[in-house]
Amino acid sequence: MKKNLVILGATGSIGQQTLDVVTRVLAADFRIYGLSAHNQGDQLAKQIGKYRPVKAVVTNNQQYQGVLAATTGWEGTLLSGPDGLLELVTDPAVDVVVSAVVGAAGIRPTLAALQAGKKVALANKESLVAAGELIMAELKKGSSARLIPVDSEHSAIFQCLQAIAEPDLKQIHLTASGGPFFRQTVEEMAAVTPEAALAHPTWRMGGKITIDSATLMNKGLEVIEAHWLFGLPYDRIKVVIHPQSIIHSLIELVDGSLLAQLGPADMRLPIQYALTFPERRENPFSRIDLYQLSDLQFYPPDFKRFPCLELAYAAGKTGGALPTVLNAANEEAVYAFLAGRIGFLAIPRLIERVMDAYEKGSNQRLDLDTILAVDAWARRITRQLISEESIE
Ligand code: MG
Repeated sequence: MKKNLVILGATGSIGQQTLDVVTRVLAADFRIYGLSAHNQGDQLAKQIGKYRPVKAVVTNNQQYQGVLAATTGWEGTLLSGPDGLLELVTDPAVDVVVSAVVGAAGIRPTLAALQAGKKVALANKESLVAAGELIMAELKKGSSARLIPVDSEHSAIFQCLQAIAEPDLKQIHLTASGGPFFRQTVEEMAAVTPEAALAHPTWRMGGKITIDSATLMNKGLEVIEAHWLFGLPYDRIKVVIHPQSIIHSLIELVDGSLLAQLGPADMRLPIQYALTFPERRENPFSRIDLYQLSDLQFYPPDFKRFPCLELAYAAGKTGGALPTVLNAANEEAVYAFLAGRIGFLAIPRLIERVMDAYEKGSNQRLDLDTILAVDAWARRITRQLISEESIE
C-alpha cells in the first residue's frame, strides 16, 4: 500500500525536489497527501492542480483567498495559518512528513509530527538547532516516530554509520564547500552584495541557506544539528572545507579508518534515501564518474574570517537556549542582508551582540513555550540592532 506523504515547504527548493523524486522514482511507494507553502501561493495552487493532494496549507493567511480561487474544482481541503500545519501533520492518515520549511517556523510542525508518531524526513535544520533537546526527548519516548536527516552531510554520516557499533566511532567530519567567499579577505567580504553571496559555487539552494553557506553559519547550524542527531559532544564534530562538494561527509573510526559517502551535488539523493530508508531504489539521476574525479581538496576552516562558525560552536557548547538565540538572530540578520539593509560582515557582528545580550545561566526549563519566547526575544533585539545599524 502507498504511504501518505506530506511535504511542508513544498514550493521551496527541497520541496520541489522531493516532488521530483516521488514522481520519477517513488510513485509506486508514495501518494502526495498534503502540501504546504508560506508565501508562494501561486506556485502552491499550481502544485495542487498537478498533484491533487487531499489537504494543502498556506501558512500566510493573506494568500488563502488567492489559492482558494485558483484551485476551484479541486476536492481537497485548504487550510491556512501555522495551525493548519499542525492539523495537517497530525492527520491520522499521514505516514511520512518531509519537513522542509525554512527557519524556526519549522519547530512546531516538526515536533507535532513526531508527537503524532510520524516518520519525519528532516530538511529543516533550524528546528533541531533551536529545539534539539525537545525533539530528541520526543524520539526517546518509544513511539513509532522516526527522524531521518535530509541534509546532505547528515545523510552521509547517517549512511556511513549503518552497521557501525557506537564505541567504534571516534569522530565525524562534516564537509563544507566553503561558499563563494572561501578565498576572499575580510576587506573584500565587507563589500559583497546579496547577488554575489547568492551565487553558490556547487549547490543550488534557497536564499536563506545560500547566505548561510556564504557566512559558514550553515555549517555551524549543521554542527549543532549533528550534535543532536548523532548524540556526539562538540569536540567529536569536526568541519573540513572541501570545495568540490563530492564527499558529503565522513566518519572516523577508532582504528583510524575513514568512511565517506560520495555523490553528485544533488539533493535528490539524500531526499530519496530519507524516504526509502532502510531500503534503496535505482534512480535516473546523474552519477559520479570516477574517471572524471581528480584533485579533491581539503582545508581547515578559517574561524577568523568566518566568525559565524565559531559562534555556532560556542552556542552549542554553552547549550540551553543559546542556540535558539543564535538561530533567531541569524535568520533576522540574513533577511536584513538580503534586503540590502546591512552589510555582509554585520551578520556575525549582530549575532554576537544578541548572544552577549542574552541572559545566560537563567535556569529555564526548555519547553516549547520557552523556546518560542526566547526565539521571539532574540528576533526583537536583532531587529532593534539592525535599525541602529542601518542608521549608522
Ligand atoms: Mg547541508
